[in-house]
Amino acid sequence: MLAHPDPAGFLPLDQLPELLSLLMRQGYQCLGPAPEHGAIVMRPLQTSSDLARGLQAEQAPGHYRLTHDSDNRYFAWAHGPQAIKPHTFAPQESVWQVDRDLAGVLQFRPVMPEPPLQALIGVRACDLAALALQDAHFLREGRRDPQYAQRRERLFLVAVQCAVPAATCFCASTGDGPTPTAGYDLALAELAEGFVTVAGSEKGAAVLRALNLSPATAGQIETARQQGEQAAAVQTRSLPGQNLRDALMSRLEHPRWDEVAARCLACGNCTAVCPTCFCHAETDVPALDGDSSRHERNWDSCFGESHGYLHGFNVRSDIRSRYRQWLTHKLATWHDQFGRGGCVGCGRCIAWCPVGIDLTEEVAALTASEVKP
Ligand code: SF4
Ligand code: SF4
Repeated sequence: MLAHPDPAGFLPLDQLPELLSLLMRQGYQCLGPAPEHGAIVMRPLQTSSDLARGLQAEQAPGHYRLTHDSDNRYFAWAHGPQAIKPHTFAPQESVWQVDRDLAGVLQFRPVMPEPPLQALIGVRACDLAALALQDAHFLREGRRDPQYAQRRERLFLVAVQCAVPAATCFCASTGDGPTPTAGYDLALAELAEGFVTVAGSEKGAAVLRALNLSPATAGQIETARQQGEQAAAVQTRSLPGQNLRDALMSRLEHPRWDEVAARCLACGNCTAVCPTCFCHAETDVPALDGDSSRHERNWDSCFGESHGYLHGFNVRSDIRSRYRQWLTHKLATWHDQFGRGGCVGCGRCIAWCPVGIDLTEEVAALTASEVKP
């Protein structure tokens, strides 16, 4: 079962609404997976009947379709295009503002978000691993990002074990799933009759106590454990190792970069759905009267032409160099920055790439053959 020392409780299926009600009474806005425009996305929930129950998400390179789950489970889909990222690192926001005061002096002030307390229901192990990586970037000592920190502090995370991974998932090979092991407040493993439930924080333990659950039986815990093992075993995609730094950095001139560049549209979809990508662009938006200006931060992508523009010239003017930058940062130089790779094996970049470029296939092709100058 979920690797946490707290004793596990058992939440019967018909008591799932009580978990939501309790969180709402504690002041949380509950967001959870709901179908919208043919995909499962995080939306505000009023009741558990708003959840994406009875659905699965069929995923393949360049392909995502909702299908019916004959077992009518709540969490039989793997994941949708969104991870936790938009709830901590806003796609677009003002970060500071400057105004000219009556004496004509410019006054700078930070612009802080005022997020509600938010409970995110149904986050996956890969999403939690990605959040830990985003924390390492945005909350690093001496460079704490105040807007990110403000949102992050107000999250309550209810994780679920993935029992039905998508064909694009490879979290077992990155060591990040499919069973959540850290970073959650509560974690659920869905069985036919309910949820084996464990706490991962003091806040989660308090919620668990308030639910007054019966302990999960040894049989239920074992079923959940086996379910996690099976979900790992059925994953067919993988990376050839958890540290590909040297393998990729020694192949910077490999002809495969040209092949993938011929297919890549440089659309940036992969970076938008990737739960660990954190590149952004900053822009000043001055008012027409010249007395104030907002400084905005927007998600950006290393696939965009302007992202590589530095002091009068573009350091990555072709798609080959942009794809190579993305993959070698994600899987190679990320190790230098953060002590691990930047991929958590969610497979979103594979499913949401309009031409179906598969990072696992690219890495296999790059690393299987000899280095070519
Ligand atoms: S690189 Fe692709 S598979 Fe890895 S975390 Fe990002 S979106 Fe997921
Ligand atoms: S790899 Fe796919 S999703 Fe990423 S920029 Fe290229 S075409 Fe777009």
